[in-house]
Amino acid sequence: VKKPGDTVWKGHKNYDLMLSLQLGIRDSVGKHASVCRELRSSDFDPNEKIWTKFPAEGSKFTHPHQSAEFRWKDYCPMVFRHLRELFQVDPTDYIMSMCGHGGLRELSSPGKSGSLFYLTQDDKFIIKTVKKSEVKVLIKMLPSYYQHVCRYQNSLVTKFFGVHCVKPIGGQKTRFIVMWNLFCSEYPIHERYDLKGSSHGRKIDKPECEIDETTTKKDLDLNLVFRLNKYWFRELLKQIDFDCKFLEDAGIMDYSLLVGLHFCDNSTNQLHSGKSELYQIEKFLSGFHFLEAEFGNSNRINGCQKQPIRLGANMLARAERITTRSAFNQCGPGGGNHSIPFGGESYDVILQFGIIDILQDYDISKKLEHAYKSLQADPTSISAVDPKLYSRRFQDFIAKIFAKDA
Ligand code: ATP
Ligand code: CA
Ligand code: CA
Repeated sequence: VKKPGDTVWKGHKNYDLMLSLQLGIRDSVGKHASVCRELRSSDFDPNEKIWTKFPAEGSKFTHPHQSAEFRWKDYCPMVFRHLRELFQVDPTDYIMSMCGHGGLRELSSPGKSGSLFYLTQDDKFIIKTVKKSEVKVLIKMLPSYYQHVCRYQNSLVTKFFGVHCVKPIGGQKTRFIVMWNLFCSEYPIHERYDLKGSSHGRKIDKPECEIDETTTKKDLDLNLVFRLNKYWFRELLKQIDFDCKFLEDAGIMDYSLLVGLHFCDNSTNQLHSGKSELYQIEKFLSGFHFLEAEFGNSNRINGCQKQPIRLGANMLARAERITTRSAFNQCGPGGGNHSIPFGGESYDVILQFGIIDILQDYDISKKLEHAYKSLQADPTSISAVDPKLYSRRFQDFIAKIFAKDA
């Protein structure tokens, strides 16, 4: 399976930017790692602006470097320090991932927004350049985000590890967020989907020959239903409900469920008419919640070292092919019992999923987009709708593409 993205080598147009980012992270994470104290409300203050100079010769606070001088800003560094701890990311490992040998890989603009995306060599983290308005949204929601992720360990919303800004002397500001790469898994991803629950324009517009396992497909490209055992299915619907409520309260819309699929038997792409042994074992074990930790860690698949199962990570499911695409549109929310016509083909898959792109509020540009697109299409089918409707539609869609084991 090919690794997405191209390494940002010396000479690449964004090489200096990446180097500044790495230098900034190394020094700022290093600095905050040694401070151990409880969070205070002032740590969330959006107006606390601390710029640090990074001269090439180094300073009292920064190491010398071989790049041009730049200025660096950390947003709410203490909060992100605590978030990294909550998400169990060790400061040294984090610096190693971000700054270690091999550099970062630039992904070829996966979104429409013009943001740039970088992957660390170890695939653990994604760095995304964001607009000023997105940083504003994140910093504004940070207190409730912090509360939410502390309260719900199974939350599917993006895990954020830091927000920073780099400004070269005489150059433009570039703002970054660092987040978890949902597809960092020992199971290679064979198919990926970015799902919003809307239908207007939600199909990849690429010729067949250009589609491979790094292509992100959309709502209308999906013709699978994912069957989870009833314990995980219930957990998923509960968590999506909590997460959507949080996003709705923060006034957010335009987010997606990003889903990565690993076909367990991809070598032969063998079709199973009945349910496989693997799936039966999982179904049996999942009946005992107290065994969850053990079965999460057990070596069940292909005999390799397994990562633990969490909601949205390394989840074994049966992917069943549906016969008609419109089936998703005809049925009401399934609640696990929907009558989607299945095509009979089904596969053991391992799923990685989470909610991404959660920094868009329903601002004037999205309201205009809604008004404009409403002239061409059914207003409920377009992505840009108000956060309440967005959340309802998103949850309904999830309840259709996931099903409870019969
Ligand atoms: P737009 O606003 O046009 O949807 P965007 O520039 O805001 O695009 P995102 O929607 O955040 O971009 O992400 C675009 C793509 O990048 C996703 O569909 C996914 O393929 C990949 N991606 C984004 N975040 C992650 C993540 N945390 N883990 C793995 N892949 C990601
Ligand atoms: Ca998006
Ligand atoms: Ca976006």
